[in-house]
Parts: sequence; structure tokens; C-alpha cells
Amino acid sequence: MTDTLTPILTRLWDAPESWKLSTYEQHEGYQALRQALTMTPEAVLGAVKDSSIRGRGGAGFPTGLKWSFMAPPDGGPRYLVVNADESEPGTCKDIPLMMANPHVLIEGVAISSYAIGCEKAFIYLRGEVVHVYRRLLQAVEEARAAGYLGENVLGSGATLDIVVHAGAGAYICGEETALLDSLEGRRGQPRLKPPFPGAAGLYARPTSVNNVESIASVPGIIRNGADWFKSMGTEKSTGFGIFSLSGHVANPGQFEAPLGITMRELLDLAGGIREGHRLKFWTPGGSSTPIFTEEHLDVPLDFDSVAAAGSMLGTRALQVFDETVSVVRAVARWTEFYQHESCGKCTPCREGTYWMRQIMTRLEHGKGSQDDIDKLLDMCDNILGRAFCALGDAATSPITSAIKYFREEFEAGMHTPVDVLFPPEKSMLF
Ligand code: NAD
Repeated sequence: MTDTLTPILTRLWDAPESWKLSTYEQHEGYQALRQALTMTPEAVLGAVKDSSIRGRGGAGFPTGLKWSFMAPPDGGPRYLVVNADESEPGTCKDIPLMMANPHVLIEGVAISSYAIGCEKAFIYLRGEVVHVYRRLLQAVEEARAAGYLGENVLGSGATLDIVVHAGAGAYICGEETALLDSLEGRRGQPRLKPPFPGAAGLYARPTSVNNVESIASVPGIIRNGADWFKSMGTEKSTGFGIFSLSGHVANPGQFEAPLGITMRELLDLAGGIREGHRLKFWTPGGSSTPIFTEEHLDVPLDFDSVAAAGSMLGTRALQVFDETVSVVRAVARWTEFYQHESCGKCTPCREGTYWMRQIMTRLEHGKGSQDDIDKLLDMCDNILGRAFCALGDAATSPITSAIKYFREEFEAGMHTPVDVLFPPEKSMLF
């Protein structure tokens, strides 16, 4: 590891039996909870607010602000829901975090619940990851037996129970209001916002929905202080985050680093592009974020700089593609994904993703027509900003950005199949 890395959430990942309570306790585990319980809930919330941490699930909304937007206590239940439905293509940070160190998340849930006055928290987990489900259940049991959860947590008088819920495997259930519908036992479809969950969320009660990594960052903020957190990252994107490098890099994996690190630096840490090849394109934050090329290698990977360069930081899912990959084929796969995962609630997304998939398939097989590129762009224009939730917008990002940088590959789709231009046997992907 070099100085560039900030192993905080990942620091125990290589420890033997890192997931056990005893291991976590040997490394200051649950000290932050003890500390938080000596503070008032308002002071805990204040520390998180002061840290300026922005949500790590992709949108980057300030976590402390989200908590403070919750409707004031009225004696009824208030909920914390951890969004652990990680499903964005390329995104693979929360699942390893929960596998390697479930207790940092549980400690974060306990502190965050205390801050917002919640006595029952939920972790909504992606359904397919049964191994993570088992690990979380086991860790919650361990924490309960040790007095970190339950009634009268550590003798403080505070009460907290955690329910771990496994979804049924739908990308849309990562959208926070669809997640809440699913948790309530309904078909997961997004709700109209406002009201935001802070006003009326789970069972119409004030609810904060936060990403795994956001909540797992809370113990460190309480233990070390807001200034410590702000000493890393940039002014408006404070702290550190897990950057997931996948695809055509020599050493793919998780790299925990300050926000604002560049892709060039991360590629150095990951051993560069696989030998004998060169970078063609990459995603800064999963397939929902417009693609970048070599010209963006020095863009600081913080929320504002990435936005200024025309994309989104998203989930820091850095998928790397070399020159053997057809951009048309990559985009076609993502478009299939969005069409399959569209919940069907709104017309622009339901119909738009279907038609975009038809055109992408034609282009992939060299059977596109003259006006297909214009049609694609027109469809994207009609979906963007008009879909019920972010899924529709997300489906347009890979298409518009890929046409911007690689229009000639789309034009080739009018006469030549991708298989001819990019022989599959020469490409590691697709
Ligand atoms: P959003 O900007 O609408 O909301 C982000 C958060 O801020 C939500 O919790 C929302 O309730 C809150 N918020 C926003 N405005 C608010 C207000 N005025 N008052 C109170 N709260 C407010 O974004 P979104 O639709 O929730 O998420 C989109 C993002 O999700 C994308 O940027 C994408 O990167 C990410 N994403 C992540 C995954 C994954 O697997 N982690 C999957 C798909 C998408």
C-alpha cells in the first residue's frame, strides 16, 4: 500500500477472521458507539454534519443534512434503513465491506440510529448475496449478545434492534422509495418524491435511507472527529471512499483513497492497464455515469470535478475497457440490463429502454439503419428528465456519452457486425 491509500474501512479486511466481533473489538471496535452514547443525539448528528460527508450510494447528498431533514420527533417510530441493495453494474464495494467487516456497519447503524432517534433499523440487502445475508445475521446476533444492540444498549437506556432483510433481486429496489415499498411487502416501485423519506418513509414514518459505506463511515467520524474526516478529500467532497477497479487492469480490486484522487493515480496503484494494451474508455461510477476516455485520466474523482467534466462520481465503480472492446457491444449489454430492470411504472423508461435495446441490438449485428444514431439520441432526449426515477436517466448515459466519443463505431454498426470488427476471442470481456 502506498501513502495515497487511506485504509480505514478496509483496514481489517486482511486480518484473520476479520468479520468476527472479537477481531473488531481488538481494533477499537464499538469504541465509537461507547463515545456516542456519552454525547447527546444532537451532538452526534452535529459531528456527522460537520464532517460534510456526502452519501456514498451514488448521488452524494450530504448525510448530516439528510438526517436533519427528518420530521421532528412526535413520539411515534422513526426508522433508519441501510440501502445494501448494491446492484449498479460495476459496483462492488458494499458487498466486500459487509463480508469482511460487518461490525463496522452495525456499529454505524447503532450510532446513526441513536443520532436520529430510531429504535428499529433495517438493512435491506440484495437478495442474491446469501453469503452476505448469513454473515450479517451472525454479526447482528454477536452484537446483540454483547449488549451493543437490544434494550438498554451498553447501559445507556437507548434501545436498538436491527432487522436484516434480503430483497428478491431487483435493481429498482436500490431506488430508495422502491426499496421501502419492497420492505413493506409490496412490489418494489418508486414513489413520487416529495414527500422524501425523511418526511414520510417506511410505513409513512420519518425514515432515513443511507448507503452501507455512508453508515460504515460514521464510527470513524465519531472516534476521530469531523476535522480528521475533512482533512482528507477535497473541500466539497470530504473524506475517503472505496474505489472499485474492474476490467482490463493488471490488479483489479478495491482501493480506499481520499476523494479527489485521479484515475491515473488509481491505475498506477492497480498496476496499469493489462500488459500490451491501452485504455479505451472507463466509467467513473458504474454504467449509469457517462463514460470517460483517456482525456479524463487527470480529472479529480470528487463529486464536483467529475460533474464539471460531464459525468458523475456515482458509486466509484471504475470499469476499465481496453482497445479490444467494442463500445457498441458494451453499451448494448448495459442497455439490455436497463431494459430488463425497468420496473415498468413510467412510460418513458418502460418503452424507451425497450426501443433503445432494439436499436443497440441492430447496431451490434451490423444491421443498423442510417437514422439509428439520431433515433437513439432523440429517445435519450425524451427519457432524460422525464422518467419517474433515476433508472431511465441512467439508461441514457452510456448511449449519449458513447456516441459523443465513439460515433464512428455506431456508424460502423450500419454495415459491419461487431464480431467482425472486434473478434470476441481477442477480448477478455463480452
Ligand atoms: P437523489 O439525488 O434524488 O437523492 C439522493 C438522496 O438525497 C436521497 O436519499 C433523497 O431522499 C435525498 N434528497 C434529495 N433531495 C432531497 C430533499 N430536497 N430533501 C430531502 N432529501 C433529499 O438520487 P437518487 O435517485 O436517490 O439516487 C441516484 C443515484 O443512485 C445515482 O447517482 C447513482 O449513482 C446511484 N445508484 C447507485 C446504485 C448502487 O448500486 N449503489 C445503483 C443505481 C444507482
